[in-house]
Amino acid sequence: MSALIMHVDMDAFFASVEQQANPALRGKPVIIGGRDNKYHSIICAASYEAKALGIKNAMFSQEALRICPQAIFVPANTAKYVYTSNQIFTILKSYTPQVEKFSVDEFFLDITGSVGLFGSAENIAQDLKRRIRQAFGITCSIGVAPTKLSAKLMVKLKKPDGLLIVDRAQVLEILQDLPIEKICGIGPRLKKRFHQLGILTCGQLAQYPDDILDDHFGVTGLWLKAICLVQDHSAVEYFEEKNTPPKSVGHSQTLREVTSDQPYIRSWIYLLAEMVAQRLRQKGLQGRTIYFYASDGFEGGYAKRKTFHEPTYDGQDIYQRCLEIIRLLGQASLTVRVLGVSVSNLSAADSHYLFEEQNKRDRVLKAVDQINHRFGDWTVVPAALKAAVY
Ligand SMILES: [Mg+2]
Repeated sequence: MSALIMHVDMDAFFASVEQQANPALRGKPVIIGGRDNKYHSIICAASYEAKALGIKNAMFSQEALRICPQAIFVPANTAKYVYTSNQIFTILKSYTPQVEKFSVDEFFLDITGSVGLFGSAENIAQDLKRRIRQAFGITCSIGVAPTKLSAKLMVKLKKPDGLLIVDRAQVLEILQDLPIEKICGIGPRLKKRFHQLGILTCGQLAQYPDDILDDHFGVTGLWLKAICLVQDHSAVEYFEEKNTPPKSVGHSQTLREVTSDQPYIRSWIYLLAEMVAQRLRQKGLQGRTIYFYASDGFEGGYAKRKTFHEPTYDGQDIYQRCLEIIRLLGQASLTVRVLGVSVSNLSAADSHYLFEEQNKRDRVLKAVDQINHRFGDWTVVPAALKAAVY
């Protein structure tokens, strides 16, 4: 049996929490901004009433108030959202210990082992929605699919207050004619490049030859294809003890074959560093110790850990530190099949990252967020990759 991964995403979370706390805000266009000054901040959340009038996250509040002068501006109250988020987390844990807090208002649950106990995925989902509505007066959308990203996509298609439970064949069917930019959150430039190759839909990307994708987009192309094939198998990351932070955050990747192509290897290290950084920020963590390992899959490999003075949650930093470790290993040229990057010696990061992430989050699939933000240039213009990597 394939895995049953549930994605739970609160609907317009910050705004819903505010509307619930203050009845005067209910049914009204509400915008949540990062600072007290209503004219000089960035919108980090908007109620559905505000979204219906054209307000988008990450818009400047000035612009939002011009579009919608009747919108009610509420300064963000991070503590309130984090508190509610923790309460929701506790409810989710009553269905399975395998709950990953993906962001302040998004969670992944691996319910593969829970359906026996609760009857079905549908039962769990309906029960959860009811309990969250009763406890907090807010709604959420739920998707259940074989992988994390497909579950997340199902939620996107069904918001707000939605529920969609699908198997792999159904996901593939939905993806078949879905425009490429829908699933990937791909920006206009990357979309144009896909279109130039005749790839308009996720179904077309799923069928596209690996080598051509690799030539045009590097590893991200292969990764996006895996998403379209519902083969993005990453595990739900959960921790047995509530409130116990992870000891380390890492990512590894097995390449298709052993390679000594240094730019290719470095682009993978960069991608892994970015993925680790993003996860650190999602979890509100930063770390000082970087662990890098590489193996050719046959006779061992290289591995080294180094502790730096300054903690980091920045992908570019982590990447540079990996390069430093590679220099320390005395390896001018790597031959690898498996690469891994992890960060440990973790501590709490500055809380303003919560907002920064929140702003970005709603625009794109989180897992491909970095493609637009950091990789947009190198996926589109290979020359920029060279500039970034060397
Ligand atoms: Mg949400």
